[in-house]
Parts: sequence; structure tokens; C-alpha cells
Amino acid sequence: MSFLNNFSLEGKIALVTGASYGIGFAIASAYAEAGATIVFNDIKQELVDKGLAAYAEKGIKAHGYVCDVTNEEQVNELVKKVEEEVGVIDILVNNAGITNDKLMIKMKPEEFTKVIDVNLNGAFYMTKAISALMIKQRSGSIISMSSVSGLKGNPAQVNYSASKAGLVGMTLSAAKELGRRGIRVNGIAPGFVETDMTAVLTDEQKSHAAENISMQRLGQPQDIANTALYLASDLSTYV
Ligand code: NAP
Repeated sequence: MSFLNNFSLEGKIALVTGASYGIGFAIASAYAEAGATIVFNDIKQELVDKGLAAYAEKGIKAHGYVCDVTNEEQVNELVKKVEEEVGVIDILVNNAGITNDKLMIKMKPEEFTKVIDVNLNGAFYMTKAISALMIKQRSGSIISMSSVSGLKGNPAQVNYSASKAGLVGMTLSAAKELGRRGIRVNGIAPGFVETDMTAVLTDEQKSHAAENISMQRLGQPQDIANTALYLASDLSTYV
């Protein structure tokens, strides 16, 4: 049997947060193609329905739930429901995220806190709840979506950069806590990726951004999905 069979996610259950569209949708679709059962959440039923229809169009039978990741109670309820209705989660992708760009001197405290709530606290609630189950199984893969903004900073993004830098710290510490229990914890820190989140950029801003990227183009959701597939699969058992 070829070692490439280790790319298979056959029999695994993957929860990708905020995956009705964008990068999360591309990641979940790649996982489904590799054989995984897909579970995703979004804040509103209409977005869950939109996601379910988009998956169905690709021939994927996904399980969609309404859950706001900023609400720990809702997160715990979701994890319990998924375990009862679908099974034990093997792969978690903390993908749900928002921006609210503004120069720092104009940023209200609640505009700072909201971004931290979704991007960092939400990932903490999910990771905490799901790793407790993974510890019992002595296996699992947890992936969080950080950003270049969290590594290098970006003007008008003190809230977003802080949340994404926080995710780097959380990922590194959780990896050290959980690695010895058979659970791998990793992060992905993309630059600009073409999704709704970056649709506000002008063509000029996009080509300027592309000049600073080795590949001389913005990322596509599939580029990130490829990395996320590697990190979820048994090809990355030592990562
Ligand atoms: P997107 O198109 O805006 O999708 C984000 C998803 O998160 C949406 O489905 C959104 O649902 C969901 N979400 C937001 N708040 C939520 C909450 N409280 N609870 C549950 N779900 C929630 O973003 P994207 O570009 O695909 O980005 C995905 C991830 O990659 C994010 O963490 C982002 O920070 C990160 N990232 C993106 C880029 C980029 O250039 N695009 C670069 C680096 C990192 P609603 O529609 O309901 O808001």
C-alpha cells in the first residue's frame, strides 16, 4: 500500500467552524473528498442552510449546526450534540473568524473585544471542549487559522493581529499539553486569501499585496485547504 494512502480521512469526523463558505468551505470540501464526514457551524440558520446547499451541490452530505463560537454554552451543546448525532470528532479546524479594521485611535473597546471574542476565545472554547474528548481517545488533530497579520502586524488591525497572535501562543501551548496524549495541534497563518473577507480590497491593493508574496499572487481557499488536509491526515503524524 502506498504511503500516500495516509492522506485518506476515511472513517474520520471533522468539525470545521464557520464553514458555510470561504476558506472553511474549501477545507471541509477537501476533507470530504478524502473520505471524512463533515460537520460545520454558523451563527444563523439561513447561513447553515446556504452551506448545506453548497455542500450538496458538490455531492457532499454535511451536517450543519447553528452555534456562535463566542458563546461557551452553545459550543459545549454543539460538541455534545455532534457526539450523539454524528460521532466523536477526530479533527477540529478553528476557522470561524472576523475582521473589523480601523485605525487604533478610532477603535472602540467593543470593536477590539468582539474580534478577540470570535477569533481567539471562540477557538479556546472549541479546543477545550473537543480536546477533552480527544484525550479519552488518545488521538486527534486540531488546526487553528491564524494569519500573517498575527505574526507581522498590519495597520488598522490591532484587534485582528492580537487575536491571531494569541492563537499562535494558544496553539503552541496546547500542542505541548496534548502532544503526549496523542493529539496534534497546529496552526496555519495565511497572507491574503481571496474570499468575502478580502473582497473589500481594491484591485490596486490586491496587486500591491501580490508583489510582496513569493508566488506573486493572492492565495485561493484551495491553497489553504491543501495544507489543512496534510495537517489533518496521517502524513503529518510528527508535526
Ligand atoms: P469568511 O469568508 O469571512 O468566513 C468566515 C466564517 O466564519 C463565516 O462563515 C462566518 O459566518 C463565520 N463566523 C464568524 N463569526 C462567527 C461566530 N461567532 N460563530 C461561528 N461562525 C462565525 O473568512 P475567510 O476569509 O474564509 O477566513 C477564514 C479564516 O481564515 C478566518 O479565521 C480568517 O481570519 C483566516 N484568514 C483569512 C485570510 C484571508 O485573507 N481571507 C487570511 C488569513 C487568515 P457569518 O457569515 O455568519 O459571519
